[in-house]
Amino acid sequence: MKSKHIKRIFSIILLLALVFGTYVSTNKVMAYSILWGSKNFNTSQYSLKYYYLQNGTKNYSSIITSGVSAWNTSSARIYVSKETDFYTHYNIEFTSKDYGNTGWHGHCQAPIPILFPDNSYIKLNEYYDSSFSGNGAELVSHEMGHSFRLDDISDMTVLMRNSGYKGSAKPEKDDIDGVNSNY
Ligand SMILES: [Zn+2]
Repeated sequence: MKSKHIKRIFSIILLLALVFGTYVSTNKVMAYSILWGSKNFNTSQYSLKYYYLQNGTKNYSSIITSGVSAWNTSSARIYVSKETDFYTHYNIEFTSKDYGNTGWHGHCQAPIPILFPDNSYIKLNEYYDSSFSGNGAELVSHEMGHSFRLDDISDMTVLMRNSGYKGSAKPEKDDIDGVNSNY
């Protein structure tokens, strides 16, 4: 009930399994958990764009800005900037509205191998606005971790903890190591 997380929808997991078979199951590393294999980019930083679509009454621009900043100021090899034109290509789409009593504060449909390797969709559920208030930036930052293809893990000290909040939007070393192994 308090959980802010939800696993990516089963169909995507199934697709992952179908596409990559055993590769997925052997892709667990020491702590961080990656959804699929490394792109092995040869660049120091990989640029991604996000777009925010406010469909409800709450405006989450400031927590999104804070969550984005938490990643951009870390040593993760990604850089996320805001796109204001809906018709221009962007990678991460944030949508907020009252999704009802879903059990999750935020949800991310992570990128899909081959088909949409850089595209993800993050939902922020204003139904739980009072539950995540104060942790909104961390909620955003966590869901962005899924955009960078990190999975939830049981280590409660990291951003990708599978329940509750650690009290900061800052990605921890393990989170950053996971992202940098992807990019
Ligand atoms: Zn999660």
